[in-house]
Amino acid sequence: MKKYLLPLVFALLVSCRGNSQGKKAQKKIYKIIKTDAEWKSSLPALAYDVLRHAATERPYTGPLNDNKREGTYLCGGCKAPLYESQYKYDSKSGWPSFDRGIEENLEYDVDYKIGYPRSELKCNRCGSHLGHMFDDGPKKTTGQRHCINSAALTFIPKDEK
Ligand SMILES: [Zn+2]
Repeated sequence: MKKYLLPLVFALLVSCRGNSQGKKAQKKIYKIIKTDAEWKSSLPALAYDVLRHAATERPYTGPLNDNKREGTYLCGGCKAPLYESQYKYDSKSGWPSFDRGIEENLEYDVDYKIGYPRSELKCNRCGSHLGHMFDDGPKKTTGQRHCINSAALTFIPKDEK
């Protein structure tokens, strides 16, 4: 038993220190960390631009916009499950839209890119940009519209799980 004790104490010390630093730190530490060059070489060009540089794909161009199959939408960067097909709906915006996501894997941030604050949606595991959240979603359910780039997602059909 004794030999397990020391690493445990050490782990506690490190984690306490980690927490207190985390409160001061401005930048969030993600579970998946890659350099920009690593992201660039591991992603298709459009996915890289969207996920890592918050680009927006042109509406009605993404292959998942009209996708109606049952399944799960994963983060294109780290494969964390982000959206389930039963919450996808046709918002007529030209981008895949969901009235809710898998909360534990989503991060809400704010960007001012177009002059006023917008609620930015990011992957909580790798920090990749996904899209934006608006409050003009279906009133009968959540009222939320998670407006997500196709290029930011990887779709896994239910029957292929
Ligand atoms: Zn991710």
